[in-house]
Amino acid sequence: MNSVPVVRVALPTPLRRLFDYRADSPSLTGAAVEPGMRIRVPFGRRRLIGVVMETASGSELPDERLKSVLEVLDRRPIFDPATLGLLGWAADYYHHPVGEVLATAMPKALRLGAAADSTEERWLLTPEGREAWARGEPRRAPRQRQVLAAIAQPDPPVAGGAIPAGAPAPGLSAADLDARLESWREAARALSERGWLAAVETTAAGGAESGVGAVAVSPGPEPNEEQRAAIERVCQSLGGFGGFVLHGVTGSGKTEVYLRIVERALRLERNALVLVPEIGLTPQLVGRFRQRFSTPMAVLHSALTDHERLLAWRDAFSGRARVVLGTRSAVFAPVRDLGVIIVDEEHDTSFKQHEGGFRYSARDLAVVRARRAGVPVVLGSATPALETLQNVTTGRYARMVLTRRAAEAAPPRLSLIDLRSSAARAGISTPAVQAIERHLLAGGQVLVFLNRRGYAPTLLCTACGWIAPCRDCDARLTVHLGAARLRCHHCGADAALPERCPQCGFAVKAVGQGTERIEETLAALFPATPCIRLDRDVVRRRGDMEEAMRRMAAGEARILVGTQMVTKGHDFPNVTLVVVLNADQGFFSTDFRAPERLAQTIVQVAGRAGRGERAGEVLIQTEFPDHPLLLSLLAEGYEGFARAALAERSQASWPPFSRLAAVRDSAKTAEAALAFLAEARKAAEDLRAGRGSGSSGNHASGRAIRLLGPAPAAMGKRAGRYHAQLLLESTDRAGLHRFLDAWLPALESLPSARRVRWALDVDPIDIF
Ligand code: ADP
Ligand code: ZN
Ligand code: ZN
Repeated sequence: MNSVPVVRVALPTPLRRLFDYRADSPSLTGAAVEPGMRIRVPFGRRRLIGVVMETASGSELPDERLKSVLEVLDRRPIFDPATLGLLGWAADYYHHPVGEVLATAMPKALRLGAAADSTEERWLLTPEGREAWARGEPRRAPRQRQVLAAIAQPDPPVAGGAIPAGAPAPGLSAADLDARLESWREAARALSERGWLAAVETTAAGGAESGVGAVAVSPGPEPNEEQRAAIERVCQSLGGFGGFVLHGVTGSGKTEVYLRIVERALRLERNALVLVPEIGLTPQLVGRFRQRFSTPMAVLHSALTDHERLLAWRDAFSGRARVVLGTRSAVFAPVRDLGVIIVDEEHDTSFKQHEGGFRYSARDLAVVRARRAGVPVVLGSATPALETLQNVTTGRYARMVLTRRAAEAAPPRLSLIDLRSSAARAGISTPAVQAIERHLLAGGQVLVFLNRRGYAPTLLCTACGWIAPCRDCDARLTVHLGAARLRCHHCGADAALPERCPQCGFAVKAVGQGTERIEETLAALFPATPCIRLDRDVVRRRGDMEEAMRRMAAGEARILVGTQMVTKGHDFPNVTLVVVLNADQGFFSTDFRAPERLAQTIVQVAGRAGRGERAGEVLIQTEFPDHPLLLSLLAEGYEGFARAALAERSQASWPPFSRLAAVRDSAKTAEAALAFLAEARKAAEDLRAGRGSGSSGNHASGRAIRLLGPAPAAMGKRAGRYHAQLLLESTDRAGLHRFLDAWLPALESLPSARRVRWALDVDPIDIF
């Protein structure tokens, strides 16, 4: 054991460990190194930027192996202890390398070394330095000469660089130097000791004034009884952890409750973190927060450029922005003086990162963060996830219910149309057509929902039976008639729409319905009624959605056809009828969560009806009108459905009554994808039986683990690669995690692991 000050650092490498570095080198000149700060360290032949996780007064490493920290990048930690603790916890829980977890939690610019503070460090040439440069000095220090040269003759600022518009600032910012020169700092320091360079702090564009202080609040509607109860309940918990579920139908005033809770936190000089699904981050929602509070807000979402993301992050970090609103990865955002966390539409699957390396649930991490920070967390939804409802049953969360819609009284009436006994024209049954007619005549608007975009899902040759396939996926190409294209909705393949069968030359035919075709059918049925469509094909830019909303609101359009896109967060007060064209996909999927998704979608779509004074009607077309889950949804609403679905889950021992982990892989051949997982299964069986090289002590818990698979994915081939999955299930969560700890190193050392891309998904939300 070595007795020197040491830091334990998370470095962006796939290795599942921290690295020790000496923190007492003279070049650090008194800079304090604390957990949560970024440092630069030597790593093999490279230099890496990492985050200090711990400090210690000694290391197990022998002296000669213990290298020194090169540089401390931050003056104060960029992760507070609660967030740093959260990240360490997440690395353990999701069994992902801690350095990669930390990297995920930072905007790219910070990973590359950009300053965390909005003030900018600039390096200027002194008059002596200018003379020295002109004389060609320093001759023996090429790195110093380079630094001097860069600052004496700065290139024009790069696009997106930190130099504000207007008069060009003299010298170069640290960020510019980072972009131009490797390890310029030691040289710059040496030059400043000679009096040739000087470093100054300037205020960068945007400023960093503290926003803490009085917040002006514009008045909102007076909360009703239920809202007031919910607000009081959470506010009594401000200052300590509490898990709350805000269960209220669409339009029942949940957002209003969030606004009031945030307001109270702001008045207590605490700040708020608000997480929303990707598709829920609408200008309306941001607008409502902006209108209510005259305090700067930081908005973080996936459409930002790296530079915009850095600026928003800095606004949060400096405390200038007192409300931080963002999508999934904003759960890691630096919020000063965090007072409350809100997760809107907590059931939304976009909170789960299910691609790439680090697969986490932002909703679940929000709860962990709230617990660590000692603040309340509010999970809001009209259709809470079954897991969340189970947590209410077991007493982990308190549930607050908003039963009434704020603006009006009557909830929509749901009923089924049996597709087996009703005639249908291009997917729309006669009873549905009659209902649409009735509502239009009564002056209402109609929403027609179909979760499939395009014109038709299949292009078929009626002579030889040829069906247009995607070359790279186990999927059919979707017909896009307006664009005259055939497109794969899984890999993006795109080809011209043929008029004749490429196999036999006979005419081809589009079979089945997508939103584009439904729009065409409705136009033929109701030629005098303007109809608009809302799906990813027609909404390409932010403004497109707003324009569609405007046309509906103004009554210029009276029928709206759309996909999932119509279900989120928009008000259509005049819609009195909702038709769900195909409710069946969800009930016969291999994924045990499919019925939950379908019920959520139906309830969310139904929530679009009758938000004005008139009560709404919801018609659901189905081939399976006797399905028990559908019947419980109709008879008892989402709560009845949830009870029935949870009973099924309990019987089958699916989550939340057990825990799952999935190993997914993909390879160039189906055999390779299955071969790795078969070996992985073998390693797991060995471990379970106490054979093999795994550490002992895991065996008892290993016995309680069920191995399911390996099995090819339902759509085995996607984008030219073959996908497969091995599932681990256990009712013993701690045991499952101990088992994964022992098993993963064995997986990493399997030779077949190198022939596939694989990843572990803890608490997967989609099962093939
Ligand atoms: P949710 O988030 O549950 O969909 P919102 O908070 O958006 O519901 O409320 C729906 C509509 O009702 C909004 O226009 C909102 O301004 C209004 N509203 C909410 N609470 C009240 C209230 N207590 N009194 C009057 N109007 C309200
Ligand atoms: Zn043919
Ligand atoms: Zn494809």
